[in-house]
Amino acid sequence: MPRMSSKPADGATEKAELSAPQRALQRLGLVRAIDLALHLPLRYEDETQVTPIARAYPGEKVQVEGTVLESRVEQRGRRQFIAKIVDESDAELVLRFLNFYPSHQKTFAPGQRVRVRGEIRGGFLGREMVHPSFKAVVPGAPLPPSLTPVYPTTAQLPQPYLRKVIASSLARAPLQEVLPPQVIPEGLPSLRVAVETLHHPPPDVSLHELEAGSHPAAQRLKFEELLAQQLSQLASRAERALLRAPGIVPRSGGLHEKLLGVLPFGLTGAQRRVVDEIVADLAGPRPMHRLLQGDVGAGKTVVAALAAAVAMDAGWQCALMAPTEILAEQHFAKLVQWVQPLGIEVAWLSGSRKGKARAKALEQVASGAARLIVGTHAVIQEGVEFARLGLAIVDEQHRFGVQQRLALRRKLAIEGLEPHLLMMTATPIPRTLAMTYFADLDVSTIDELPPGRTPIVTRVFADTRRPDVVERIRDDIAAGRQVYWVCPLIEESEDAENAAAEFAGRAEPLTLQNVTDTHAALAAALPGVGVGLLHGRMKPADKAATMAQFKSGALPVLVATTVIEVGVDVPNASLMVIEHAERFGLAQLHQLRGRVGRGSAASVCVLLYAPPLSLVGKERLKAMAETTDGFEIARRDLQIRGPGEFMGARQSGDQLLRFADLEEDAPLLAHVRQVAPELLARAPGAASAHVERWLGGKLEWMKA
Ligand code: ADP
Ligand code: MG
Repeated sequence: MPRMSSKPADGATEKAELSAPQRALQRLGLVRAIDLALHLPLRYEDETQVTPIARAYPGEKVQVEGTVLESRVEQRGRRQFIAKIVDESDAELVLRFLNFYPSHQKTFAPGQRVRVRGEIRGGFLGREMVHPSFKAVVPGAPLPPSLTPVYPTTAQLPQPYLRKVIASSLARAPLQEVLPPQVIPEGLPSLRVAVETLHHPPPDVSLHELEAGSHPAAQRLKFEELLAQQLSQLASRAERALLRAPGIVPRSGGLHEKLLGVLPFGLTGAQRRVVDEIVADLAGPRPMHRLLQGDVGAGKTVVAALAAAVAMDAGWQCALMAPTEILAEQHFAKLVQWVQPLGIEVAWLSGSRKGKARAKALEQVASGAARLIVGTHAVIQEGVEFARLGLAIVDEQHRFGVQQRLALRRKLAIEGLEPHLLMMTATPIPRTLAMTYFADLDVSTIDELPPGRTPIVTRVFADTRRPDVVERIRDDIAAGRQVYWVCPLIEESEDAENAAAEFAGRAEPLTLQNVTDTHAALAAALPGVGVGLLHGRMKPADKAATMAQFKSGALPVLVATTVIEVGVDVPNASLMVIEHAERFGLAQLHQLRGRVGRGSAASVCVLLYAPPLSLVGKERLKAMAETTDGFEIARRDLQIRGPGEFMGARQSGDQLLRFADLEEDAPLLAHVRQVAPELLARAPGAASAHVERWLGGKLEWMKA
């Protein structure tokens, strides 16, 4: 598998001792016996029965058992391996393999007994199976008593290996009951029985119920998962209630009012409302934990700036963090422009800022001279000490993990006080989801766009229409406008992410080739036009230079990966072309599209796809063409993908739900919401044991 980056050297010696499948297990997070026990099958194969060959008809998927009569490699157009078997029904079956190894010859040596499973075809030579699954057996070997699980896996992790590892860890996995029986919904099996049933269902099980998740065994797992999530949210809320935060009360005539005075526009009603909600939180004695959501272009930055102004006016420092350097730099430029004239010193911190410049910035932060600190997550790294951090703002991130909150808390030099936390996102969480699910998150929503925006028109084309799109680019450039052309690439891809992509059944990992090829092709198709290239593998200084040239208009066209996904603001850009749009998530497409439509010119977003499109793919691109409303897109995303994947690995760093579905399992969720607070109050030990089992590997629960 091609790799975009190699991991740091630490732990390298330990790694060298692991086999490839063991490493693959680790990358998938399958480490503890419990992780393996909770890695559930995608589907099942029925190997519990053997069909006599004489009674196996074309079109049927069956398992048969017989003795090898003959086998040989043949050249019929293509080299292939052919074996013929016969069974007690006195009928013969031909097995045909186009890919084969020396081991095939061994297994299918004449006289061997084999079990094979596949679809019967009425071939030229009589009944045959192409590429059946097979295994050698001793005559009279018993049939498995249960269905055979088929697990989600990756190329480096062979299914039989995974089956063996999981089966052996099932017995060891600590699946004893930790919950008092009265909280478990009636009619559900014990956890151990549920897990064992899901891995090895009895032959008479309703496969439909199992695969639809309505089987009691599946329900038990969903219940467990929902309960763990709810408990951890409640615990984190309860724990936060014990913390103290700076009580920050806005002063009349203060900095925020001055800022309002210098802004070139007035706030929308929605912006005023969310500013009020945030300011009320800041005044309280508990640390704020609020998500500010608002569609792309809704104007969240100015809300953040006003919140910061209130905090700074009261003498506190404020940190603003963004996930990419490009976005952080934009915020920096904008905020400097807004607050420096008001006498506020702004410091810049990023991973690439080193040496003297970094030392100076650190000194400004530590002394308190810099009241506003803008940067990437470098802001909360080791070595950064704040004098008086009162408010941390995190842009374009759904959730700020427990780890990061811990790091943040350590930044506040004042004992016992925790900074307020404001998270901002343009990928809205549907309201019901937010209300029922995120028990530890307050949500403010900007549900109104600033006036005077022209809606973006979205077109969906097969990529065979590329020449037309290039024509359109020429016209736009001639009219003095600018163009983005985005190519997919798993940016800053680590092993784990590549594995996750494969795991999710997506195509082979995307390489840098795609974006550099596209850049070369476009530059050739547009002679005399400046075509820039931007991707995550470039040096930060080169990225910044290219971005600055695009911003100034010197480069009319920018070919980029998703590094420009969030927040980038170049109002003169009015055409966005997204290559391989079928490979992006809806939320991501919405973010990308939001890079245009920021100026007065009518903007167009072209979604290019590589045919053929799957049904789901069609549905998704159709959704994009039909609406530009981020909430509607989030709703459809939820419908098409299910919430397990919503805010999936790509967006939040970890998956929220693996088994349960918030809409489908609403009755279970209702039950969980009812019993969780009681459990926490009456049996805190059971509650924490339960959370530890489910989230222990991922979260530092209660230690935060
Ligand atoms: P987002 O919510 O996507 O982060 P921004 O904060 O980048 O949006 O705002 C998008 C653009 O709209 C910016 O150029 C910003 O200055 C402008 N803007 C924000 N609020 C208003 C408003 N009330 N009236 C007019 N323009 C506004
Ligand atoms: Mg923004």
